[in-house]
Formats: sequence, structure tokens, C-alpha cells
Amino acid sequence: MTYEKSINAFREAYEVIPGGVDSPVRAFKAVGGTPLFIEKGEGAYIYDIDGNRYIDYVQSWGPLIFGHCDLEIENAVINAVKKGLSFGTPTETETKLAAEIVPMFDYIDKVRFVSSGTEAVMSAIRLARGFTGKNGLVKFAGCYHGHSDSLLVQAGSGLATFGTPSSPGVPADLTKHTHLARYNDIESVKKCFEDAKGDMACVIIEPIAGNMGLVPADEEFLKELREFCDKHNALLIFDEVMSGFRASLKGACGISGVKPDIITWGKVIGAGMPVGAFGARGEIMSYLSPEGPVYQAGTLSGNPVAMAAGLVSLKKLKADPEIYSKLENKAKMLMQGFREAASHFGYHLVTDVRGSMFGLFFSQKPVKNFDDAQQNDQKTFGLFHQAMLNRGVYLACSSFEAGFICTAITDHMIEETIKAAYEAMEEIKG
Ligand SMILES: *Cc1c(COP(=O)(O)O)cnc(C)c1O
Repeated sequence: MTYEKSINAFREAYEVIPGGVDSPVRAFKAVGGTPLFIEKGEGAYIYDIDGNRYIDYVQSWGPLIFGHCDLEIENAVINAVKKGLSFGTPTETETKLAAEIVPMFDYIDKVRFVSSGTEAVMSAIRLARGFTGKNGLVKFAGCYHGHSDSLLVQAGSGLATFGTPSSPGVPADLTKHTHLARYNDIESVKKCFEDAKGDMACVIIEPIAGNMGLVPADEEFLKELREFCDKHNALLIFDEVMSGFRASLKGACGISGVKPDIITWGKVIGAGMPVGAFGARGEIMSYLSPEGPVYQAGTLSGNPVAMAAGLVSLKKLKADPEIYSKLENKAKMLMQGFREAASHFGYHLVTDVRGSMFGLFFSQKPVKNFDDAQQNDQKTFGLFHQAMLNRGVYLACSSFEAGFICTAITDHMIEETIKAAYEAMEEIKG
């Protein structure tokens, strides 16, 4: 395979866009090589500008559960576009999409739409603080909640401590209420609550973490979080921007019995268009402007084209009760094949699957938190990634990302991918 045109395109992009990309992980820094410039997608495949074809296990980082160019979604978008791109007024499609989501959860009465996952989470945190009248929040090392200031805290010892920003440009004053805890470790959460001295507004968690690789929370841990929040009058926020409508129809909430106070969504809910959302029971949502005092707004929020894509996509997901078990079976088949290929060549892979999400670590021991995840052999992953790319398989370009199965991926494609994995492992073994 040749990547000549992508290499040139990246060079040109580099001249006018910082790092050549509009979102850092796209730059392939974690795996080496240059990012592929994509010409088009079709079902499970993407094609780069050099004309190479890949089976796509990234799916735009999660949103495309029906793959590229799904005809019904495409038509819904085209029809909406023909009526106008944006009005800045209410449209009926927003109500329809909200009305599809609300009855799915008995603890969600209302939903508000925004334009990204970052916005959804940022607004949910503000709402939690406004509702409780408190400031503190607990976040877990390794969980990603978008790039808003108070959530850009993840580095650190993993011990509960006052958060230090992970990026220049974020004043420590803005993260001083962010307490960092260790995933799946309730003792570290207790320490945060002690440090906050009664001023804890909320705990935010990816109940199925997908931003440190795929690391699901233990059910017992989620239960303890729920009890802890109740005891201290803090809200529990499930950030399901990635896992929502992905891990199951109800996301992690369809797998865990623990009920959060607020859920945030993104990615799949927009089917590839920019959409985020958050929902909670009426008592909480009524704190939002204009009903209540907590301000939140957006010129393009609930954009009619984006809502049309989300609505048809969610209806399609609901129409097939088998959809998630079919996706999960494929994900399991893929991970089993990868594990067998790895052990055949003397590597050890830790894998996990939740619905259409999968994750793999080149690691000897189980991964329960960010410290464990950081032990993975990133160098071997980088070599594996490149070797798979050369065989037409597009995996996420970092060992800290989850992978995704879309409905367009066939058993035959999984078999091809596993075959490629054997060849790739043999090649990198040298
Ligand atoms: C992707 C993601 C976000 C941020 O969403 P954007 O649309 O990229 O702003 C927030 N939380 C989680 C769990 C995510 O995976």
C-alpha cells in the first residue's frame, strides 16, 4: 500500500492547521506514521485519497453504528437540508427525538440537545452544581468528558487529591473543585468527599470507560457510588457520550442496575451529525434556563438536520431488538480471534466487549483503572496498528481508544480481519 497522497495532504494541512488536524488524536502520534486522509465511506469501509480501502473499526470514533452512508439516514438528512439548514427556532423534530429518549428511562423526564459531547457534559456539570448549590465534583483518572476547563484533569498520582489541570491555559482556580479519584476504587472516592468537606455537587463517570481503552466499571463499584452520592446529597452523572446507544440500546444503563441522576449523550445520538444531549428527572431539569436559573444555550442546538439524522437512527435501533446481541457477537468473535492470534505468536492480549464496543490491550494483567491501562505495551500496539493498516484494517490510532462494530460489518469481514491479525502479529514478531 502507498500512502503518498495522504502524506502530502498532511504536509499541506500542517502549514495551515495546528498539527495538521482539528482534534489531536487524529494525528497518529501514538502509533507513528501519518494520518490517512479519507475520501469517502461506504458501509463498513473507508477509502483514503490514495485509493486504499479499509474495514473501519473506528466509525468516526463511535457515532456511526449503521456504518457509512446508511441510506435511510442519508435520506433523512437530505430531506431536512432541503427545508433549510437552521432556523434558531424550535422545530418538531427536536420534540420527536426527545420523546423517543425519555420513555426509555424511568428516571429521565426531560432532555436538552446541544451540539457536542463536550457541551453536554459541561452543561450537565453546571446543572448539577446549580441544583445542589455545591461546587465540588469527582472525576476519575482515565475518564474523558470532553475538553471543558474543569474536566481537563486526569494526570496525577491517582490518589484522591485536588485536581491540577492537564493543560496549560486552564487556570488552577478553575480545577480546584475537581477531585480526582481512581476508577473502580471506592476508597479513593471517599477520600475526595472528605477533602470536599460537604461541598460535593456530583460524581461524573463513564460507566463503561472507553477513553482509556475499554474498561467497564464493576457493578458493585457503581452501586457504592450511588449510595455514596445519596448519602452526601451529590448527583451521580453517567457520561454515556460514547456508551449511550452503543453498549446497548440504553447504553450502560441497560447493562447496570444503577440509576444515575443525569445522563449525557453524544456520538451515536447524532448518527454522524454534531449532537449532544443531557437528561434528568423533571425536578433537576427544571433548574435549566428558561424554566430555572441555570444558564445554558446554543445557536445551533437541536439543529434540524442533525435532529433528523438522530431521529431516524434511534428509530432504526429500536426497530431491531436483536441488533445489539448481533453486534456483540461479532465483537466477541473479533476479540477471540485477536487473542488467539496473539497467543499463537507469544503475545498476551487483554480484551473486553460491551455490545458493539470492544477494547484490547497488549498487557499481561487485567485492566481495572488508568494505572493498569498505562501498563499496556504501546510500542507493540503501534507496530500492530501499522501492520493492520497495511492489510486494510483501520483500528483506532491509540491503545487508549475503544473500537466499534457497525451493522455493516459481516462475519466474513471479521474473518478477514482475524486473518490479517495473524499476519500482522507474525510480521511484528520479526
Ligand atoms: C467523545 C466523548 C466526549 C466528548 O464529546 P465531543 O463530541 O468530542 O465533544 C465526552 N465524554 C465521553 C465519554 C466521550 O467519549
